[in-house]
Amino acid sequence: MITVLSGGTGTPKLLQGIKEIVDSKDLSIIVNTLENDYFSGVYVSADIDTVLYTMADMINDETWYGVKNDTFVTNERLAELSSPELLRIGDIDRATKIQKTMLMQDHSLEESVDIQRRQMGIKSKIIPMSNENSQIKIITDIGELEFHDFLIKYASQPEVLDVVFSDVSPAEGVIDTIKKSDAVIIGPSNPITSILPIISLEGVKEALKDTCVIAVSPIIGNDSVSGPASKFMKALGIEVSSLGVAELYKDFLDIMVIDNKDENLEKDLGKIINKVIITNTIMNDLDAKINLAEIILDGILQ
Ligand code: GDP
Repeated sequence: MITVLSGGTGTPKLLQGIKEIVDSKDLSIIVNTLENDYFSGVYVSADIDTVLYTMADMINDETWYGVKNDTFVTNERLAELSSPELLRIGDIDRATKIQKTMLMQDHSLEESVDIQRRQMGIKSKIIPMSNENSQIKIITDIGELEFHDFLIKYASQPEVLDVVFSDVSPAEGVIDTIKKSDAVIIGPSNPITSILPIISLEGVKEALKDTCVIAVSPIIGNDSVSGPASKFMKALGIEVSSLGVAELYKDFLDIMVIDNKDENLEKDLGKIINKVIITNTIMNDLDAKINLAEIILDGILQ
């Protein structure tokens, strides 16, 4: 069995490739929940929903948020009523979020997501990293901001001084799933706001040490491929490069996949990680996604 640790953009791209070559029944995905919160009266677990839609072939893979070809009738009506939404939620996407909110009256988040993935015909397990509510604050030069305010209202523009998030306990399936895995893939997700929250859960690092762990770097050169990862890494004093990412994961990482453009890092990376794979890591189309997935699986098997 293969387990993937995921956020909501880079790793879902890779999942589109992995799902073409791995039997979905043999795949589990542990997803970041740090940014989950209530918006517009519904529970929003953006990364989980992105993974659900990716695995159900419904994802809007231009924005990596919401459902492809969704309509926005409710969102537009709310704006007309002078109650504009911070998150632009589509109508079909809103149904997913309403259903999850309803399910969560009687079930944990983990159980609710399991019910939803089955109803969407997804055979892979999708496991929220935690059932507990968490908080993440971005400390910036204009003050302390909620994560979504930083990302959407301020378009990730403020200078970031620190990123702080609350401690939560792992959901029931997390440790067990990692322990039962033949390998764990850390996708190219934001190391600070998507992966660090998962690996900081009690028992996760210890479980990862006992299995083969392979990570794809979300950083090429000295910048992230997209999003604010480089700002967050800099704020935490982590070098913005694949070396910085490797330093963060080195206690349990066996194999690191970096982009062709970073081949000059091979020697330095080799000092802290057993094996380095150099390839194209930019996933612009399905061929590139499948190709990267195949290289990762080959790396695990060798
Ligand atoms: P979020 O939850 O929306 O922040 O998304 P993730 O944490 O899953 O992913 C964001 C990270 O994915 C960013 O740091 C990007 O640099 C990285 N990323 C996005 N697309 C690609 C890609 O095609 N290749 C690589 N190597 N990284 C990517």
